[in-house]
Amino acid sequence: MNQKFHAPKGVAEYVPPDSAGFLAVKSALSRSAELAGYSYVELPIFEDTNLYVRGVGESTDVVSKEMYTFDDRGGRSLSLRPEGTAGVVRAVVEHNLDRAGLPIKLWYAGPFFRAERPQQGRYRQFNQVGVEALGSEDPALDAEVIAIAAEGFQRLGLKGFRLLLNSLGDTATRVHYREILTSFLANLDLDPETTKRAQLNPLRVLDDKRPQVQAMLVDAPLMRDVLSDSAREHHEAVCTYLRELKVDFSDAPRLVRGLDYYTRTTFEFVHDGLGAQSAIGGGGRYDGLMSDLGGQELSGIGYGLGVDRTLLACAAEGLEVTSGQRCQVFLVPLGQPAKLRLFGIAAQLRDHGVSVDLAFDDRSLKGSMRAADRTGAKLAVILGDDDLAAQTAAVKNLSTGDQQTVAIAELAETIQEML
Ligand code: AMP
Repeated sequence: MNQKFHAPKGVAEYVPPDSAGFLAVKSALSRSAELAGYSYVELPIFEDTNLYVRGVGESTDVVSKEMYTFDDRGGRSLSLRPEGTAGVVRAVVEHNLDRAGLPIKLWYAGPFFRAERPQQGRYRQFNQVGVEALGSEDPALDAEVIAIAAEGFQRLGLKGFRLLLNSLGDTATRVHYREILTSFLANLDLDPETTKRAQLNPLRVLDDKRPQVQAMLVDAPLMRDVLSDSAREHHEAVCTYLRELKVDFSDAPRLVRGLDYYTRTTFEFVHDGLGAQSAIGGGGRYDGLMSDLGGQELSGIGYGLGVDRTLLACAAEGLEVTSGQRCQVFLVPLGQPAKLRLFGIAAQLRDHGVSVDLAFDDRSLKGSMRAADRTGAKLAVILGDDDLAAQTAAVKNLSTGDQQTVAIAELAETIQEML
């Protein structure tokens, strides 16, 4: 017997009818970025491994444990992209996009890869829609980026999401904060793995979800208490703009993110209907990333929204999201001459933007009408030899059952009126 294959473990894949919902989520989230003047970038799904080591941070879980890394045939180490920002910044530097007007505003969409333990809402291949805006430190831009993410969720009709907002301080504050946090953590009775993490990446310990660890962190110093004046002013200005834009948020002084490059504004969108994997998107500002990747010193801000989890969130809220109608008109030929003629009519209707499918395999009228019902089409056009001789066709409304005879010459026009 021939071998039967399965999709690799833990990947998110979508087949009809669910795939229509996936597309709808992706396009709703993309639309907000387009409406705010972001231009599309299509980037490779694998990059030089060092881009992520330098950009995202060697000590992050994403880079140290979760990357799909391989050598190509020329012995170069490549990794499937675990996130979008490093690749976008690489492309900005490589193509000198920063020579044009600032800020540069870009959006992307596509698959990302992390070798995680698969569970509901956590996949090894997942999908994001993201934006990056580089070359402006204006807090209004931070607010705009956050607002368009929220707007994307709202466009889908989502209600049960919350925005958590924090400031991770500027680069100088981070160094100072890291020191005081490291000495606080050194006095705790942490397990060996967490102790190691506390030395490598102390901020990540704050993000530990285990209650016993959280209990030890109650008195941990907060970035909030050591923010420099300029970082505090920036943060307060972001909050003011968000209030003006009527974007609700809650203050989350312990919010840290899994990627090292974030400075100042940091945010996450969570949805309460998703259980453990509640983050449907997140992002923040990065001051040093572009210069770390060989570019000029320009600050940037962006987000990555999880398409898969947003779709789950829609399902949790009982929202029906689908992208347009798959088929509006179904053509039913009875006999070869009618089939040839209907092919021409299909092309003509499609030219007018009507979605059209037709019956293949020379089925009986009954079989073809069953196929028409399955497509969800509104109208069926039935054409037989007698109709052809009379230069007419039967147009049937599939929901009411009403049928009328229409001259073939007027078919395209009549159908458009009936839809
Ligand atoms: P991150 O870059 O980790 O902040 O991810 C941004 C968003 O992508 C998250 O808020 C999730 O919605 C989504 N995401 C990240 N990792 C995964 C994953 N393994 N499976 C599904 N969605 C993910």
